[in-house]
Amino acid sequence: MSSYSFDPSQAYAKQLDEQDELSAFRNEFYLQPGSIYLDGNSLGLLSKRAEKTLLESLEDWKTQGIDGWMQGNHPWFYLSERLGELSAPLVGAKPEEVIVTGSTTTNLHQLAATFYQPEGKRTKILADELNFPSDIYALQSQLRLRGYDPEEHLVRVKSRDGRMIEEDDIIAAMTEEIALVILPTVLYRSGQLLDIERLTAEAHARGIMIGFDGCHSVGAVPHAFSKWGVDFAYWCNYKYLNSGPGGVGGLYVNEQHFGRLPGLAGWFGSRKDKQFDMEHRFTPSEHAGAYQIGTPHVLSMAPLLGSLEMFHEASLAKLRAKSLLITKYLMDLVEHELAGMGFTIGNPREDQRRGGHVCLEHEDAARICKALKENGVVPDFRAPNVVRLAPVALYTTYNDVWEAVMRLKTIMVEKQYEKFENKRGVVA
Ligand SMILES: *Cc1c(COP(=O)(O)O)cnc(C)c1O
Repeated sequence: MSSYSFDPSQAYAKQLDEQDELSAFRNEFYLQPGSIYLDGNSLGLLSKRAEKTLLESLEDWKTQGIDGWMQGNHPWFYLSERLGELSAPLVGAKPEEVIVTGSTTTNLHQLAATFYQPEGKRTKILADELNFPSDIYALQSQLRLRGYDPEEHLVRVKSRDGRMIEEDDIIAAMTEEIALVILPTVLYRSGQLLDIERLTAEAHARGIMIGFDGCHSVGAVPHAFSKWGVDFAYWCNYKYLNSGPGGVGGLYVNEQHFGRLPGLAGWFGSRKDKQFDMEHRFTPSEHAGAYQIGTPHVLSMAPLLGSLEMFHEASLAKLRAKSLLITKYLMDLVEHELAGMGFTIGNPREDQRRGGHVCLEHEDAARICKALKENGVVPDFRAPNVVRLAPVALYTTYNDVWEAVMRLKTIMVEKQYEKFENKRGVVA
């Protein structure tokens, strides 16, 4: 929108909602009355369309039994490939470069098993010290499996301020000892969006493979993985893509790597027409499908079909534009309403350097999150001191953001958080 000029009134929030081209999509989601959901980057909400495609797959099971694999509403045998084609535009890939399979962590295991090829002096993996723990655990175990000590062979780029990772520091760490670089597209805590194109070019200039974890960008930020030459990527579909708890993940492999034998092979990686020949000689798919392992979790994929339809209708360009504006509005409101209350905005301010969420730091973050929940606002706490807020373009309104900040202000003024212990819950 061209005419944004911050104004703290509720009337202005409502005006922004009236000008929102995507506002109709909100009606497609199950929102709880009175509750403001700002956690769509942890678990996206259920939409009616996702529910419909899930129920259609259940119906196929009910009425067709085994024939659901080839017949029915969404033939299960081709569902991973179909969803790969539909997801490809969200990551800027060719349809055959994407497959919906596994989970973020298992896909990283698969891709590291495939693309980590230590040779001569190049034996190390480069990651960063702010990455999500599961990615680090996976890389540590991949190193151990090859007989390397992760203490020495997993290099983690340091953050200068505990929030961001500087691209210059990453590039400086791309030495002749590095075989593979694994980085997040968007850092899960601070929301920093890395310069994927630049990092890919710099890695390749040094003969290093590079892969990205897209959990916090896919569905919120446009990508051009193929054009940038990114070697591979993997991501969750249950965050911004709203496919449901434990929804099956996504994986991209650049077509120049097609034919590379999967590090972890299984029969669903077979060429479709060969799979049921039941030969002990593996004939891998010529596409990204080769990196599947076992039978897909059909009921955890089916919701994605309905969900992706909305992304195509809305268009990623419009989703990104709204996401940037609504997060900017949230930051402006926080600065205006919560000044002097101990909050620091921990995400980058420049549009090209931030993902889809706002990172609010506060020393009482854990109990502020508890007080927010008690007041009908759903945030995410991330240790040690972050209140993570994600206004999601498809279903969050500007008025939601206004209302959430007002409730937060009341919590701070009345010190409502003091009745809670400043400690996270089991699931934060
Ligand atoms: C959410 C998230 C994960 C979760 O991985 P799962 O295998 O789906 O449990 C991993 N990495 C990052 C960066 C995440 O944000």
